[in-house]
Amino acid sequence: QTRVLTGITTTGTPHLGNYVGAIRPAIAASRRPEVDAFFFMADYHALIKSDDPARIERSRLEIAATWLAAGLDPAKVTFYRQSDIPEIPELTWFLTCVTAKGLLNRAHAYKAAVDKNAEIGEDPDAGVTAGLYMYPVLMAADILAFNAQQVPVGRDQIQHIEMARDIAQRFNHIYGREFFALPEVVIEEQVATLPGLDGRKMSKSYDNTVPLFAGGAKHLREAILRIVTDSRLPGEPKDPDSASLFTLFRAFATEAESSAFRRALEEGIGWGEAKQVLFERIEADVAPMREHYEKLIAHPAAIEEILQEGARKARAVAGPKIAELRDAIGLRAMS
Ligand code: ATP
Repeated sequence: QTRVLTGITTTGTPHLGNYVGAIRPAIAASRRPEVDAFFFMADYHALIKSDDPARIERSRLEIAATWLAAGLDPAKVTFYRQSDIPEIPELTWFLTCVTAKGLLNRAHAYKAAVDKNAEIGEDPDAGVTAGLYMYPVLMAADILAFNAQQVPVGRDQIQHIEMARDIAQRFNHIYGREFFALPEVVIEEQVATLPGLDGRKMSKSYDNTVPLFAGGAKHLREAILRIVTDSRLPGEPKDPDSASLFTLFRAFATEAESSAFRRALEEGIGWGEAKQVLFERIEADVAPMREHYEKLIAHPAAIEEILQEGARKARAVAGPKIAELRDAIGLRAMS
């Protein structure tokens, strides 16, 4: 079996991009018999981006309910909250002590923050927390605590997986044994990166999302109506390849449906009408899951129970790993 691990940061309400880019392919993979799936809510990671406790708490519940409504089977998948696994922060420290500071200096998220400061003539590290700086080490611990072999991610995350490999290799080298398997990045080429309302990548922390379930069909429709378009009028041909609407449509449609929508745009369907077509296509997929979601979210105690069981399963893997590492690095009991 191949251990496949993936997580979603609990920074907000799950959106169409999370579903298409992460949840839908991960659930499909988890149904393959050769896959041993570990899916988690990355709530320690959320603290890097958000200091709003209510938002994080709500997001954890919404993301858990979303995974379950989308078909995750907790009997088959190890499904847990990162913050329920104390082995993860412990491993983070072990890894921190073998990670070259220079490696972290090169991490994209940190460099982007530093470059932005430089642009506006600020101190390079202004507003940069040590949390942001350490993000790749925490992510390495998420993966290595379970010896995950494959990590499906979006392109923006490739560097972090490479760093996890570097850190694992360095640890193995220093302590002289293959403690960690080297994780492989899996890029799902056919999985689209969905644009948000403003045309940038749809992202919880940009507040430009189309929520998957929250607010019901009415809110889905309203959000779709707010997607930016160019100013071409009904009757004028539209360019599907530069239209966010078309990228979103394709993520939910069959080849035949996409071709028909492409033609309609090229033939000059108005943006308003195109948005209605998009809404109906997405709603057809989302409505049955939403019904399930609403039932789940009304019973947080049942979700909590599922997560506690998931934490137990996850710790049954991470616990022995940490014990082995403590022993190897000199933190063994004085018997
Ligand atoms: P944040 O703004 O907190 O980073 P996010 O909404 O960008 O949140 P993450 O929680 O970082 O999403 O990512 C969870 C998963 O969802 C990742 O696998 C990521 O690749 C995927 N994902 C996020 N946004 C999109 C998108 N716009 N299109 C496709 N996949 C996406």
